[in-house]
Amino acid sequence: MVTDTIHDLIIIGGGPGGLSAAIYAMRAALKTVLIEKGVPGGQVTMSDEVENYPGFIHISGAELSMKFSEHAQSYDLEMISQEVTAVDPGLNYHTVRMANGDMIKAHAVILATGGNPKKLNVPGEQDLYGKGVSYCATCDGFFFRGKTVVVVGGGDSAAEEALYLAKLCKKVYIAHRRDELRASKILQQRIFDDCNIEMLWNTVVTQIKAGSDGVEKVGLKDTVTAATRDLDVDGVFIFIGFNPNNELVPAGTRMNADGLVVTDEKCETRTPGIYVIGDLREKYARQIVLSAADGCTAALAAAHFVEEKKSVQGDTCELPPGSDQ
Ligand code: NAP
Repeated sequence: MVTDTIHDLIIIGGGPGGLSAAIYAMRAALKTVLIEKGVPGGQVTMSDEVENYPGFIHISGAELSMKFSEHAQSYDLEMISQEVTAVDPGLNYHTVRMANGDMIKAHAVILATGGNPKKLNVPGEQDLYGKGVSYCATCDGFFFRGKTVVVVGGGDSAAEEALYLAKLCKKVYIAHRRDELRASKILQQRIFDDCNIEMLWNTVVTQIKAGSDGVEKVGLKDTVTAATRDLDVDGVFIFIGFNPNNELVPAGTRMNADGLVVTDEKCETRTPGIYVIGDLREKYARQIVLSAADGCTAALAAAHFVEEKKSVQGDTCELPPGSDQ
């Protein structure tokens, strides 16, 4: 289905960023459509416990997502359950294409498609996610106070998160597959100076093993000698990179070497009216509260953009049927 209606705003992605954008957009009276291919809520629905979203001392990821979704839908937000296949930028409007062949148009588009932490793909990783396996120390570190954990990876993320965990945990191991860290020198120095962190050089985690109460051990392999052994740990924090869902980002959009979109402070890309928010946007940290903040910023900026665009176009939001971009 192709309609000639030009919406004010299309939001792609129904995680905390997209839903927060929807709340602000609806309150700014923007004619808004949110498209989500799965269940609204995004990655956060997978978190057993969230304890760092202001206003909620303790809430499950699923419940927090539901609250975001209910809040957005309380403004009669139009939601479409479909997979978006392309975003075609245009001068007068942008076109969003969906897997079922439908196309819709809008003056502004907010991309909130997030991404996923890279997985080790070892036995036990998936089953023990939320039961000792984590991809976010800031989110889950608190549950490992006084316990022993292993951090996997050798980049800046692994280093920063290990330093964070070292303040909470009894012992932090870092398992890195080489004999040299990729992390910046300053972080390396802090790691080496921290008496609570022990490096496991040339080491990969081959298996995560469960006890009665979640993670109990990891299987380790020396990448040089091929020797194997088990290590007792209560938690495994994996930081081996992040895969941003950037397939819908229009060609020519500025991205960094990790595939994250570089925007201005309004979350706007180089293409006027196309915004990128949340984990897909290059920023200092990936947190629910920051995605929500991005959603607010982009929706407010989009409202301003749409208002200006309409005033330039003579306050019309409908093109005659069959008009080209
Ligand atoms: P990264 O720099 O790509 O590092 C990933 C680490 O995981 C590398 O040490 C890599 O080992 C290891 N690794 C990858 N696949 C693995 C596997 N299958 N098994 C075991 N180890 C594996 O990722 P990142 O640390 O998330 O950082 C991403 C970007 O964000 C970087 O540009 C980083 O500088 C930036 N960042 C910056 C800051 C900061 O400035 N404060 C904080 C966080 C992130 P090898 O080294 O052997 O390849």
